[in-house]
Order: sequence, then structure tokens, then C-alpha cells
Amino acid sequence: MITPGATDKRPVKVLLSPLMPLLILVGFITIAIGLKSGLERQESFRVRAALDYEAQRLAANLEREFDTHVKALQRMAQRMAENPGLTEPLWRYDARSYLVDFGNYQALEWVDEALFIRWVEPLDGNADALGFNVGFTPARRAALLDAAANGTVDISGVIELQQGGSGMVLYAPVASGRQNRGFIAGVFRMDTLASTLLTPRVRQHFDIDIVENGRLAYQLSQAHPLHPDFTHTETVELPAVDWALTLKPNTAWVETQYSNWPGYTYITMILMGALASALIWLAQTVLQRNRALSNARARLSQETRQREGVQQTLARLESTDALTGLANRRFFMADVAHALTIAARLEHQLALVMIDLDRFQTLNDTLGHQLGDELLVKVAQRLDTLSDERVLIAYSGGDEFMVCQQHVTSLDDVIWLLGQLQRCFRDPFLLHGERYSITATLGAAVYPHSGLDADLLLRNADIALYRAKNNGRNTYQFYTEGMQERELQRLALQKEFADALVREEFVLFFQPQLDLRTGTISSVEALVRWQHPKRGLLVPDEFISLAVESGQITALGRWVIKAACQQLAHWRTGPYRDLIIAVNLSGRELDDHELVDYIQHTLTHHRIDANRLEVELTEEHFIRNIERNKNQLTRLRDIGVKLAIDDFGVGYSSLGYLRDFPVDLIKIDRSFITNVTQQHDDAIITRAVINLGHNLGLKVVAEGIETIEQLQFLQQHHCDCAQGYFISRPIPAHALDTALQQSYADLLHLEPV
Ligand code: C2E
Ligand code: CA
Ligand code: CA
Repeated sequence: MITPGATDKRPVKVLLSPLMPLLILVGFITIAIGLKSGLERQESFRVRAALDYEAQRLAANLEREFDTHVKALQRMAQRMAENPGLTEPLWRYDARSYLVDFGNYQALEWVDEALFIRWVEPLDGNADALGFNVGFTPARRAALLDAAANGTVDISGVIELQQGGSGMVLYAPVASGRQNRGFIAGVFRMDTLASTLLTPRVRQHFDIDIVENGRLAYQLSQAHPLHPDFTHTETVELPAVDWALTLKPNTAWVETQYSNWPGYTYITMILMGALASALIWLAQTVLQRNRALSNARARLSQETRQREGVQQTLARLESTDALTGLANRRFFMADVAHALTIAARLEHQLALVMIDLDRFQTLNDTLGHQLGDELLVKVAQRLDTLSDERVLIAYSGGDEFMVCQQHVTSLDDVIWLLGQLQRCFRDPFLLHGERYSITATLGAAVYPHSGLDADLLLRNADIALYRAKNNGRNTYQFYTEGMQERELQRLALQKEFADALVREEFVLFFQPQLDLRTGTISSVEALVRWQHPKRGLLVPDEFISLAVESGQITALGRWVIKAACQQLAHWRTGPYRDLIIAVNLSGRELDDHELVDYIQHTLTHHRIDANRLEVELTEEHFIRNIERNKNQLTRLRDIGVKLAIDDFGVGYSSLGYLRDFPVDLIKIDRSFITNVTQQHDDAIITRAVINLGHNLGLKVVAEGIETIEQLQFLQQHHCDCAQGYFISRPIPAHALDTALQQSYADLLHLEPV
């Protein structure tokens, strides 16, 4: 990734400076100016060269012109020298033919040895010159005499002509030395010379001066306006005179010489500069944008990282239970689903175990929720020691934990794990210095036999758990096919239950209780049965828990009370008029605040004494929600109904509640009686419970008597009443006669009443 700092290198920094485009533009302008001036200098060289050329050509022309004329005059002089008797008319004739050939002459003259002009052709316009001495200055005279002596040509230079205007005279000596007979002179007019020498183009563009001995002698042409920068002077090689031509071009000519390249180059460079700086500016903008972008990206990825961290924390929080620190149900289910795909691929088995803490609710209610929570945490800690890459422990809520075991190769693996799980509950838990023992019931479902997906496995583990609880707690149970069947039946029953209430499919069976002091039946326990239209007579174990789960137990309870009262009303006049009926109440029924009112109302309605009705509540239900129950039970006692504690001895270890509750009777649990004659411990407990009850002024009943020995043991230890198959099974009301008429006096070695 590109970090923002990496782009902060020096060249980049310079390139990014806001001055950069300006600098580039200025650079280009400088180069443009330099180039332009260079090119212009080159151009002016060219112009100068062209000017040189023009001047040289002009000078050469002039020299050639002079040469031609000089030669022609020399030929005429020669002819005169060779012909001493030449007459004027003949000379004139000769001269005329010359004038025709050389139109430049103003006149041809013969100057005698004394330097006077003697003959002139044409005479017209030149007559004034006749008799004029051409050696009019000492310099001119010396020059002419010198030329006559040496036979060389003399040129007068630019002079004012005797005939008027500027002109020039060429003198060719007629013989030299002593034979000299003067000169043949050709007179030029400067304007005529100019017209022969200069083309209209040259005349139009140049100012041409003839400089003689350093002084301006004649202006051959004048062209305006002149260009200030250019001028060229070319010497002209002429005999006897010192001449130079000075050429000055006018601006028009110079401009035609100049090309547009410097201008074009200049503009091109400026444009290129503008383009380059615009490009740089653009590049800067793009670079800055890029930088801003990569900064933004860096910030963004940082934010993303932070967010990912938060998300991970959230995910961890979402996946764990706040109280126990174990995985929560949602995470567990997701993990199981994932583990199942692995199990399917590797063709492994997978076990799902549900753990339910036995009687946790009672503990929670009596000790308080805080201690209950602490216990849950302790349990979670112990269970968590078993977790590894194969075993995941989770908390499902309430008093339930869940375990997923991966890579199971045989059922032994699962049985070993179940054993380990149970070991977690072997030692008591220490809470605030107190030791609390708690057991757990486990249900297990194994993939693929007990289900292919997580939900089904969980449901089946739950069914197995439910079975295990029914079979007595502190045990485990694997899910089997039959369970599913039973579970379905259970659900069907739950549906049919409501209809059964309406159709009054329930009946009360009665199980007598034998008074061990008198040998008579003093009371009966009402035990409900469901006369199912298809399945026949169903015992409470098959439907009471369904009714509790669906909340219909309240209605069933009311029906039982009503039926019991009806039965009491029915017996009012017969031999059973003193018989007490004991009815069972489940804990949930106590939640019904109108229960006591209902009982009272029903008793009054059937005009029955309240002391003919007894209510049995299990120890566990007694303890649950102590405060609320206490209120209800006190009111029940107040109206005269007796209270019995059912299944005494298996539930709760504290006996303090016996002091606080308005109890009349305790029923020793069947489990103590079963082996009371064989097991020393059970005998001791049974005796202790009897004594305890009596010391508290309570009546003591033993239930589950199946043998004469049990009956006699109880009698010996002064138990008040006995109930069990040995005396009678639960039977319908109309079958009670036989049971009641039987005498137990012999069995008990009592005097018959
Ligand atoms: P429980 O109150 O402990 O009732 C005694 C149970 O023990 C009865 O089973 C009875 O048939 C059985 N029993 C009696 N003597 C002997 C014996 O000598 N040996 C053996 N092995 N068993 C004996 P049942 O009728 O199946 O009732 C089971 C439980 O259902 C009752 O236990 C009671 O808790 C509940 N129950 C029964 N009727 C009602 C009811 O009307 N309302 C409520 N809420 N619960 C009821
Ligand atoms: Ca009972
Ligand atoms: Ca019982």
C-alpha cells in the first residue's frame, strides 16, 4: 500500500509547488525570446548579405560601364592620333556615330593641348562649352597634364557641367608625351548614368549615394522611408577617381527579405510554454487529487480496521453468554451446523448432549437468584474444563447446558464424555462457605442415527433428556427411535387434553389409607385417571406433566376438587360419611390466586365440612415461591382444609419450613419404604421421620406399602397411617366397599372395633 509519506519526496515536492507552472511558462517565454532574437540576427545577416550583393553588383555594373566608355573614347583618340589631318566635319561624323552607339553621353568633345574645348558634338545645348579651359583648377590641370604625359585616362569626378546639371567627364589623351594633341572627352550627365545603371526595382528600394573622396558627390536614387539598421558601402575601381557606392535599403525591401520564422517560432514557443504549464498544472491537480485520495483511502482502511475490531468484539459478545462466559445458544447452533458439514464429509459421528440441573429451580427460589447465578457460573466453570477442539460447551439458558462432541467414532466416545460430564457434579459446589450438592440429568442424540441437522438433533436430545428425567434424575439417556414415537404421542395427547376436560373423560380413583392404631380406613387419596377413548385408562404419569406444560393443570385441578367434593357429598349419608379425601395439587396450581376461593366455594356449594378435604403437595412445591405459597396455604388452613407434605424426604434437606408452614401431615416417600425392612439406612430414616413428625405434632403417613413386613415395621414404630398396594390399589369409588369392609385388625394384632 502506498503510504501518504512515500510521495513526499523532494522532486515530487518541487513538482507540486504552485510556482511550477508559472516557472515553466517563464522559461518557455525566455527561450522564445532568445530563439526569436537569434533568428532575427540570422535574418539580419541574410539581409546584410543581400545588401552586399546588391551593392557589389551595382559597383561592378558601374565599373563595366565606365570601362566600355573609356575604351570607346580611347579608340576615338587613337584614330585622331593616327590621322593628324582630321578635319572637324570628319571628326563630327565619327563622333556622331559614337553617340548613336553610346546614348549616355551628353556630348563628345576635342580638347586641345592647351586644355581648351575646341570641337563639340552635338553642338546643340553644348555650344556654351566651346573655348572653356578644362584645367580650371590647378588640380584638374595637373591631373590632365599628367594624363597627357603618360597617355592614361583621366576622369573628372562629379562636377557642375558648363552645359548645366551634374556630370562627369572622361578624358582619353590623343597620343602621349610630346606627340600629345589634347584629349577626346566624353561628358556624362549623372541622371543619364543613373537611368542606365539602375533598374526600377533598385531605384524603388535603395537610397544610393556616390561618395567621392569621402564626400557625398551624387545621389543616384532616393527611396523612403529608409530602414535605420542597414547600410552598405562598396568601393568602385575607377581610374583616377576615388569612388564608393553607399546603399541604404528602405523598410519595404528589408521586410521582403525578412521571413516570418522568428515570429512563428516565438508564438510556437509561447504556446508550447502555455501548454506545458497547463499540463504541469493538470498533473499537479491530478497528483494532489491522488494524494488526497490515497489519504482518504488510508483513513478509510484505518476506519475499516477499527470497525472490524469492533465487529469482532461484538461478534464475541454476541456469541458468548454474559453470565457464564460460555458460548450462547445461537453460536452453539451455528457451530453445530458447521461441525455437521465436517462430520458428513469425514463420515464421522457427532453427539449433542443436553444437560439439565436437577431441582435447580427449588434451589434458586430458596437461596435467591444471585446465589443461583453463582452456582450456574461454578457449574459452567467445571463443565468448561472438558471443552477442547472436539468438545464445545454452551449455556442454553435457565438451568440447561449443551455440549457438542465432534469426531465421534463409536458410542463409547459419547458414553465416556457423559461420564465426564456427570463427574463434574460429583463434588459439592462451594458458595459463600456453604456446600451445595446438585446433580444433573443428561440427554444425548447422535448424528447421523438420531437426526441429520442441528435442530432435529437438539430436539431429540431434549426428548432423551425428558425421558431421563422421567426415569428418575441424575442419569443419562440416549435418544432412540421409540422416543420419537412416544414424543409424538405425547404431543398428540397434549392436543387431546383440552377436549378431554370438556368431555369429562377424567375419573377419580381412590386409594385407602389404613389407620394403624384403629385398623380402619380413615381416608382415601384421590388419584386421577384419564379414560382415553382410544388408549384406554391412562395413569397420571402419562398426562400430568403435559397438563403442567400446557398450563391446563389448573383446569384439571379444579375438576379434581369438584369431583372429590361431589364424591364427599355423595357419601354424606352412607357408611363413608366420615371418610377424608386427600387430593394432589401440583405446584403450578398454587399459582392460581383464586384456588382457595374456588375450594371454599365448592365445599360450600356441596355443603361439605372443610376438614373432610386434605391437600397433598410435594415437598419441592412447598418450598418453591415460599412467600406466595405461604399466603395461599395459610388461607387454605384457615378455611379448615388439612395440608399434607407428599413424597417427604426426597426433596429438600432443610426442615425449617415445617416450623413456618401450617402443615398437618407428612407422607414418607415410597422410596424409603420399599427397602425399609432390608436396608438399615432406610429404616433409620423412616424412624427419624416418624419421630420428627410426632415431635412437631404432625400426623405421619407411609406410602408404598407392599408387604406385611413393611406394614408391621411401620406399626411398630408408631406410624399413624399406611397406604399401598398391600392394603389396596387405587380403585374406582364404587369398588371401595370391598376394601373398606376388610378388617385389618388381625394383621395388626388389634382388638377388632
Ligand atoms: P403420589 O401422590 O405419590 O401418589 C401415589 C402414587 O403411588 C400413585 O400413582 C399410586 O398408584 C402409587 N402407589 C400407591 N401404592 C403403591 C404401592 O404400594 N406400590 C407402588 N409401586 N405404587 C403405589 P399414580 O396414581 O400413578 O399417581 C402418580 C402421581 O400422580 C401421584 O403421586 C401424584 O403426584 C400425581 N397425581 C395423581 N393424581 C393427581 C391429581 O389429581 N392431581 C395432581 N396434581 N397430581 C396427581
Ligand atoms: Ca399423593
Ligand atoms: Ca406420594
